[in-house]
Amino acid sequence: MNYVLPLAELIEQFRKLPGVGAKSAQRLAFQLLSWSKEDIKKFAEALLKASTDINYCPACFNFSSGQDLCGICSNPKRQKKTICIVAGIKDLSALERTLEFKGLYHVLHGLISPMDGISPENLKIKELVQRLSTQEEQVEEIILALSPSTEGEATTLYLTRLLKPLVGKVTRLAFGLSVGADIEQTDELTLARALEGRRDC
Ligand SMILES: [Zn+2]
Repeated sequence: MNYVLPLAELIEQFRKLPGVGAKSAQRLAFQLLSWSKEDIKKFAEALLKASTDINYCPACFNFSSGQDLCGICSNPKRQKKTICIVAGIKDLSALERTLEFKGLYHVLHGLISPMDGISPENLKIKELVQRLSTQEEQVEEIILALSPSTEGEATTLYLTRLLKPLVGKVTRLAFGLSVGADIEQTDELTLARALEGRRDC
């Protein structure tokens, strides 16, 4: 189908989103164009504001606004003796949904994957080591909440070796899940159980 250029461009932008094919992109573009000019402006402004105002928390690398600590790191009710390590912010959100974990997080922003050229230096690992040595309250337990995929296992192994001399206790989630399962796609109950049944590395 040939569209006028601005519409073709809009559809093309939607196609960049994960899981959006040609048909869905067209549907989204048409839907958006049916909105009032004012609503479209609000939508565009929210997008721009998010891209400029959202940063990463300097402590855990979760999303935060401006240069501030994120809502979890700055919450005085969170206990600082336990840090849960996750690959991505989506995994952090999945664990938060369980309402079970009261400690802090550290987001690696990826997993070690030699095939994709991702080595420990490409992840927030040296920042983690630095955090452990500078955080006011001594960290007593590190929980490795990484998926049981090849990359997840490689990262768990690497971090266990690295962190054991630094922290008293290094544990991992007890996954009764099929190998390769994604944390973000695991339901809350299963995740809560995996957290509760965590075992020493
Ligand atoms: Zn944070």
